Amino acid sequence: MRKIWKKIILVSMLLIAAVSLSACESYGNELQNKNAVYKKVNASKTIIWGVRNDTRLFGLMDIKENKLVGFDIDLAKAITKQMFGKDGKAVLFQTSSKTKIPVLKNGNVDALMATVTVTPERAKVVDFSTPYFNAGQSLLVPKNSKIKNVKDLNKPGIVVVAVKGTTAVANIRKFAPKARVLEYDDYGQAFTALKAGQGQAMSTDNGILAGIASENKGFHVVGGTFTHEPYAVAVNKGEDKLAKQIDKALKELEENGTYDRLMHKWFDGIPGFSIKEAER
Ligand code: GLU
Repeated sequence: MRKIWKKIILVSMLLIAAVSLSACESYGNELQNKNAVYKKVNASKTIIWGVRNDTRLFGLMDIKENKLVGFDIDLAKAITKQMFGKDGKAVLFQTSSKTKIPVLKNGNVDALMATVTVTPERAKVVDFSTPYFNAGQSLLVPKNSKIKNVKDLNKPGIVVVAVKGTTAVANIRKFAPKARVLEYDDYGQAFTALKAGQGQAMSTDNGILAGIASENKGFHVVGGTFTHEPYAVAVNKGEDKLAKQIDKALKELEENGTYDRLMHKWFDGIPGFSIKEAER
């Protein structure tokens, strides 16, 4: 019996020690973690980028080539090389509209280059670089649709198709409160729903919609932009050094013409899309 009590006391003491140790550790981590990703990235010359795989022109999985392609992908690679020269390595991690902020917060990725709009709510949980692309929310409709702008959506019976986790969902509720919003997991599913007539319009950023319209001749982007959606690279809170380093690389890519070359590579000749308006 005495032996059992000894064991119980010993196990309890070990448990208490483990709990207090981990409490100290987490407090220590908070202090030490500031700029931890910056240090890791610079030691390894590798950046794990969270990118999109469902967003034509920005980040799309090219099934034939089995690789991710788009403006965000090229810019992420260019920034990595600009920061570390030819030894720099950009690792691409596929994220969705819904998972992009969580995968950054939980440390799966070092930075997001994923059509992320800077918003005051997001700025509470992540840090942003300076914006690299000026998007704005717009509408995609069949070419024979009577819908011409966001005001036409503000009627009972109107259904708008959007993607979960995007700024578009809240914006439609604000600009067309009478419309119903149907949310899908990605742009492929959302557009399939629009094609099937489950909604009268699809809404998200103009460049993303222009990418879909460029492949689907029966649809076009209408109504101009009714919000301002500046895209920036997002890094975790406390990674101010990494954000600054990315800003510096962006500026250099702008000065050496790479940024402009990539804008033209992806957006030249896209109907209804203005490079001048989108350029930073
Ligand atoms: N720019 C919008 C946002 O950050 C849409 C991008 C996306 O599909 O994730 O919410």
